[in-house]
Amino acid sequence: MGLLNSILGMVFFTVLVTQTFAQCSEMDYDRERKKMVSRQLQGRDITDARVLEAMSKVPRHLFVPLNTRNLAYQDSALPIDHEQTISQPYIVALMSQALSIKPGDKVLEIGTGSGYQAAVLAEMGADVFTIEIVSELGLQAERLLKELGYDRVEVKIGDGYLGWPEYAPFDAVIVTCAPTAIPEPLQQQLAENGRMVIPVGESGFQQLYLLTKKKNRIIQQKILDVRFVPMVDEKGNTY
Ligand code: SAH
Repeated sequence: MGLLNSILGMVFFTVLVTQTFAQCSEMDYDRERKKMVSRQLQGRDITDARVLEAMSKVPRHLFVPLNTRNLAYQDSALPIDHEQTISQPYIVALMSQALSIKPGDKVLEIGTGSGYQAAVLAEMGADVFTIEIVSELGLQAERLLKELGYDRVEVKIGDGYLGWPEYAPFDAVIVTCAPTAIPEPLQQQLAENGRMVIPVGESGFQQLYLLTKKKNRIIQQKILDVRFVPMVDEKGNTY
């Protein structure tokens, strides 16, 4: 009896300790996420309340690989599987802000990656259509987004260069991999008064542009120099 009691006691103690630690780390992530929003976003030039609110809610640490989870809220991009990257929080915020998203907007994303950017856009009230060329990444992101309840996001595996004509036109297009020129199909699938943010340029060194469609013409504005992974076709050749 005494032995049984002490075993039960030990089990109870272990459960208590692990639960306390698990809760602690969730609280730590909440705290780190708030710090990220105030220092890295508000501390710079992010003022769109919808962006700030969305990024203080989306659990970024669940979108990065387990072994880098503790780095999820730092001021940098991080590697994800298949030699791809999840963008720096500030770049996610800047691109989301540039798109002036309103609830109910239809948004096309090229380059689902981890699914983090798609979650932020969905949290801002957009209906998100996102395309990923690496099927494992796309499927993994789709699973996580569903688990977290982001049912306004639709994921497709395929070549995003071609856009998603079945759902066009889009109020906004966000491209998170870099072609060397702006893909014609994406310009065509942009609605009147639609906005597109896209990094354009050679591997490792690109410019981020904001394009706006007015009276069927594209107005182009440079935002800043950036570094994204290249946009590739199904054979792996860069666009
Ligand atoms: N938005 C992502 C980061 C994407 S990294 C996030 O929030 O995590 C860029 C992604 O673009 C990579 O996953 C890469 O596989 C994908 N990609 C590259 N070329 C593509 C193409 N032609 N169509 C769709 N996705 C592409």
